[in-house]
Amino acid sequence: MAYDVVVIGSGFGGAITGCRLAEAGYKVLILERGRRWDKTNYPRQPQDNWIWDSNCPEKKNGWMEIHAFRHMAVAQGSAVGGGSLIYANISCEAPQDTFNKGWPAEITYAELKPHYDTVAAFMNVQKVPVNQWPIRTKLMQEGATAVGAADRFKPLELAVSFDPAWNYDLINPKDPGHSKTFTNAQGVEQGTCVHLGNCDIGCEVDARNTLDRNYIPWAEKHGAEVRPLHLVTNIEPVTGGYRVHFDRLDTVTRTRTQGSEDARIVIVAASSLGSTELLLRCRNLSKTLPNISPFLGRDWSSNGDFLTPAFYNDRDILPSTGPTITCAIDFLDRSQSGESFWIEDGGFPNLLGNYVAALKAGGNAENLWAKLLIDSFGHMLRNGGGESFRNVMPWFAQGVDAANGTLNLHNNVLTGTHTLNLDWEIERSRPTMDAIVAMHQRLSASTGGSPVVPPTWSMLHYLITPHPLGGCCMGTSMADGVVNHAGEVFGYRNLYVADAAIIPEALGVNPTRTIGALAERIAAIIVSEAR
Ligand SMILES: Cc1cc2nc3c(=O)[nH]c(=O)nc-3n(C[C@H](O)[C@H](O)[C@H](O)COP(=O)(O)OP(=O)(O)OC[C@H]3O[C@@H](n4cnc5c(N)ncnc54)[C@H](O)[C@@H]3O)c2cc1C
Ligand code: SF4
Repeated sequence: MAYDVVVIGSGFGGAITGCRLAEAGYKVLILERGRRWDKTNYPRQPQDNWIWDSNCPEKKNGWMEIHAFRHMAVAQGSAVGGGSLIYANISCEAPQDTFNKGWPAEITYAELKPHYDTVAAFMNVQKVPVNQWPIRTKLMQEGATAVGAADRFKPLELAVSFDPAWNYDLINPKDPGHSKTFTNAQGVEQGTCVHLGNCDIGCEVDARNTLDRNYIPWAEKHGAEVRPLHLVTNIEPVTGGYRVHFDRLDTVTRTRTQGSEDARIVIVAASSLGSTELLLRCRNLSKTLPNISPFLGRDWSSNGDFLTPAFYNDRDILPSTGPTITCAIDFLDRSQSGESFWIEDGGFPNLLGNYVAALKAGGNAENLWAKLLIDSFGHMLRNGGGESFRNVMPWFAQGVDAANGTLNLHNNVLTGTHTLNLDWEIERSRPTMDAIVAMHQRLSASTGGSPVVPPTWSMLHYLITPHPLGGCCMGTSMADGVVNHAGEVFGYRNLYVADAAIIPEALGVNPTRTIGALAERIAAIIVSEAR
C-alpha cells in the first residue's frame, strides 16, 4: 500500500482525522476536489470563480456549491479546508441532551467533551470582546430582553482572533492597517479582526482561524500530503485495503485525468451530501461496495436553518459590520410551543458596497455598467462605510427538525446519468419552523423592526440550509445505521465516514464543533486500536 490512510475531503471531518493520524505517524494522503485558496485569490468580483458546478468541475471549480433540490437548497464548501473557508466561524457544543436519543449508546456528552475541548483549543475559539460588540449583537440582547428572555442571550465562541485593543472608536476602525499580525500555535501567520464583515467570503486580514490555518498545516508538518483538485469518483476493495479512484482537475487545460491510490484505511469525509453520494454510487452504480447498509441516505436533516430579514426605519443595524454571527438567544429547552431552536444574528458580506468601491477605486467609470452601479450606489460609500443594507437585521436560527429526509440517486433516462436527489417533506418539521418564524417576528416587532418572512417559505415552504447533516448515520447495526459509533462502515473493515454525514439527528445549533469532536474521537480510536 502506498499510503496507510487516504482521506477524502479536507473539511472538518477530513482535516481533523487526517491531521491526527499524520501526527500519530500514519502515512496520510488527503484528496480534496476544491482548490487551495488564500487572501490573494479569494473571489470578489462577479466574474470570479465563486461556484463549484458538479456537472463540469474541470471548468467551474469555485469554493461554494449550491444543490437546489425540489424542496430544499443546500450550500456547502469546496476547497482545501472545506466549509471552513466560507463559514461564519461559530464554534459551539451541542446541547447535552442531544445525545440521549437517536445516537449509539457510546456517544454521550461526557464522552465527547474532551474532544470538544480539543477542537476549541486547536482552533483557538474566542468570544467577540464586549467592547467590540457590533450593533447586531446589542440588538440581539435588546430583543431578548424585550421578549422576556434576557437570560437566554449568550455571546458565542468564534474561530476568529481578536485584538482586545481594537474598538469602534479608532479612526477608520475597519482599516486593515489596524489588524495586528501574529504567528498562531501551528506556526501560521494570521492577523486580528477589524470587523470587515466579510467572514463568509474570506477574511482579507486572515483573522479567521480556518482549517487551512491550523489542522491542515499541522497535518502537512507531520508528513500528510494534500492534493487539491482531486475529485474522488469510486472506492474499491483490494487485497489489504482499498483503491480510491479520482479525476484530477486541470484548471489550465480544463480537463480531467483519471488516477487512483491505494491505502489500508480510507476515511470518507466529503460532507453530508458528498459522502452519501459517493457511497451511493459505490453501492448502486459501480457496485464496488455492494453491502453498504440499506439505511444509506436516510435520516437527513437541514438542522432547521431559517433567516427572516427585518427592516428598521429609524436605526442603523449595519449587518455587514463585524463578524457574521456573534451570539444566540437560546430556546433549545423546548419552552416555545414545545420546539427546540435558537436565534442568531446572521450578518452578511457587503458584496454590493465592496464591488462598487472596487469599481470606483479601479477608475472604471468609463464602462457603462460600472458607471450605472457607481451612480446608483456610490452615494452609500460616503454614507458610513458604504453598507448596502444598513437598516436590515437578518434574524437567523437553527432548530431541531424531524431529520427525515432521504438522499438517493435519480436516474435520468434521457441523459443516462445519475444525480443526487433529496426527498424531503416539510410536514413533520413545520412546527419547528413555525416556532422560529414566530420568534423572529416577536423579536423584530419588539425592537421596532418590520419582519419580512421570505415568500420562499410563506408561499412555497422551500428552505435553504448551510448545515446539512446525516445520510451515513451512526447506528448500532446495519438495521439502523451506516456506520458504527467509531465511524466504521458496517460490513467494511477500515472504511470510515467521519463528517457531518454521520450525525443521526438535528443538533439545532451550528454543527462544526460536534463534527470536529466526532472526527477527533474517530482518529483516536483508529490510533488506539493500531489499525
Ligand atoms: C455560508 C455558510 C456558513 C456557515 N457557518 C457556520 C458556522 O458559523 N458554524 C458552523 O458550525 N457551521 C457553519 N456552516 C456549516 C459548516 O460549514 C459545515 O457544517 C461543515 O463544513 C461540514 O463539515 P464536513 O467535514 O462535513 O464537510 P465540509 O467542510 O463541507 O468538507 C467536505 C470537503 O469534501 C470535499 N469533497 C466533496 N466531495 C468530494 C469528492 N468526491 N472528492 C474529493 N473531495 C470531495 C469538499 O470539497 C469539501 O472540501 C456554514 C456553512 C455555510 C455554507
Ligand atoms: S469580521 Fe472581517 S476582519 Fe473579522 S474575521 Fe470576519 S472578515 Fe475577518
